[in-house]
Amino acid sequence: MRYSQFMIPTLKEIPSDAQVISHILMLRAGMIRKLAAGIYIYLPLGLRSIRKMEQIVREEMNRAGAQELLMPMVQPAEIWQQSGRWHKYGPELLRLKDRKGGEFCLGPTHEEVITYLFANEIKSYRQLPINLYQIQDKFRDEIRPRFGLMRGREFLMKDAYSFHTTEEDCHREYKVMYDAYTRIFKRAGLNFRAVEADTGAIGGSRSHEFQVLAQSGEDLILSCDQCSYSANVEMAETAAPPEEARTVKAAKAEMEPLREVETPDQRTIEEVSVFLKAAPADLCKTLIYFDDQGRFYAVCIRGDCDVNEMKLRRALGVTAVYLAEDADIEKLTGAPTGFAGPVGLKIPVVADTTVKAMRNFITGANKKDVHLVGVNLERDVTIERFADIRLAQEGEVCPRCGTGRYKAYRGIEVGQVFYLGRKYSEPMGANVLGPNGEPIVCTMGCYGIGVTRSVAAAIEQNHDDDGIVWPAPLAPFEVHLVPLLMQGEAVVEATEKIYAELTSRGVETLMDDRDERAGVKFKDADLLGLPIRITIGKKALEQGAVEFKLRREAKVELVPLDKLLAKVKDTLRALYDECKP
Ligand code: ATP
Ligand code: MG
Repeated sequence: MRYSQFMIPTLKEIPSDAQVISHILMLRAGMIRKLAAGIYIYLPLGLRSIRKMEQIVREEMNRAGAQELLMPMVQPAEIWQQSGRWHKYGPELLRLKDRKGGEFCLGPTHEEVITYLFANEIKSYRQLPINLYQIQDKFRDEIRPRFGLMRGREFLMKDAYSFHTTEEDCHREYKVMYDAYTRIFKRAGLNFRAVEADTGAIGGSRSHEFQVLAQSGEDLILSCDQCSYSANVEMAETAAPPEEARTVKAAKAEMEPLREVETPDQRTIEEVSVFLKAAPADLCKTLIYFDDQGRFYAVCIRGDCDVNEMKLRRALGVTAVYLAEDADIEKLTGAPTGFAGPVGLKIPVVADTTVKAMRNFITGANKKDVHLVGVNLERDVTIERFADIRLAQEGEVCPRCGTGRYKAYRGIEVGQVFYLGRKYSEPMGANVLGPNGEPIVCTMGCYGIGVTRSVAAAIEQNHDDDGIVWPAPLAPFEVHLVPLLMQGEAVVEATEKIYAELTSRGVETLMDDRDERAGVKFKDADLLGLPIRITIGKKALEQGAVEFKLRREAKVELVPLDKLLAKVKDTLRALYDECKP
């Protein structure tokens, strides 16, 4: 491709509305432009990288036995009513009406459409298992679209759905997809981790996320430094709470009498523990939550620990939990925020397992400026339920192997696999006839990859101060030719010859034929970040050579013209080999 004829509107300045590096660099390198919040135009250069990611995904999905189809983006409300998600999905679902008043939505995901298709077309167990996928635009009216392609409203996703007659077969396919995803992200040159995950709005009972490790990631991952257990912090299990924080009044102590102490204006764990000269772990933190049905709960946890709201939501079996407002807290506990405690409360008390071992502890007295000391569960409190609702922390012992410790990473979720069970097949009638003519409700799995987000994640992971440093498999071109045009006819001729030779051998080459100064061309080459740069100048040409440089290395090498093609081929092979699954 000739640079002069290719649309690459690079920017010198950092765009003011971009915060993360992939967003900044994709704008600066002329890969994308914003049309509206979270809605982007993929320019020719950006599209080339997106298509490469798409192609890796397609090849690996086909290889794993899945079949590609393409479903509409506009979906009728009826099928969403059937699955029960028309009302549940919330404002992320963009709803619209046609001229006849018919209700539709823009697909944020396609479980309903695929299950509709399946229910109408697949009749016999002999047609199973089947795995169907598409690579298609999704629309989610995200509350905070940001970070460019990382969290868009319209974005490209690969979504796959599989159907099975037995749970075992569905678990087998889950593993097939897990392995395919591992190959996909390796082939894309990404440094990633597969972690146990919550199932969110999609539902189901088992799930893994594929997380690209990067400082700017929105997700927190905890990984054991000894065994293979990794989980999103939303899910991460906890073993015994950290030893260091054990309560000072250990379990063997005698039960003390319950008494009230004055704690004027001491509300937080920190304030109360300092004021009463106790360890935070001697306090039982009490938080008032309510769920999506408006039911209130008191949630207790040891003072040095934090509540994991995802775990709480699961423990309560509800779709959402929220912290109560001050006014509700006052109404329910009889005291302003900061003085709540489980003794004598009228709402159900849910306690983290850390509370079980507590003796003679301190809590709010449900009275302004008063706390209780010497609280003991068996005498003073009725706990409706104990559950693991604690937020796991870096450094604590791994609950799986019991020897390793959690290490924390930031991650960008690029893919997720779900075991759905019968969540959609049951309400939507995805049944087949079994060998003896009996109806079988199918078991389903679904599997998503954010194609556009993966490309952005690649940049988050691979860049320097000057620009992008593409992993070869996602680079829009492989070679950047930089002729120093001011240096005469010979340079132009040699460049054209190299360009013709490389392109005829299938090397994707961008030739900077613009009438620009060398400095400008080098700056743009660094910004665009293609893996190999070849500079053609008068001095080297006189020795029958050109300058060869890898974007990720500082070293510049002189390569004789007759060895250039082999050098390019060998280098590219080595770069792709690094990403072999
Ligand atoms: P998130 O938690 O980041 O909002 P999600 O868990 O809701 O994502 P899934 O339903 O699992 O997303 O969708 C599959 C994949 O689609 C995700 O793993 C992610 O890579 C991608 N994706 C989801 N939402 C967006 C978005 N707003 N912009 C770009 N890609 C997205
Ligand atoms: Mg997800």
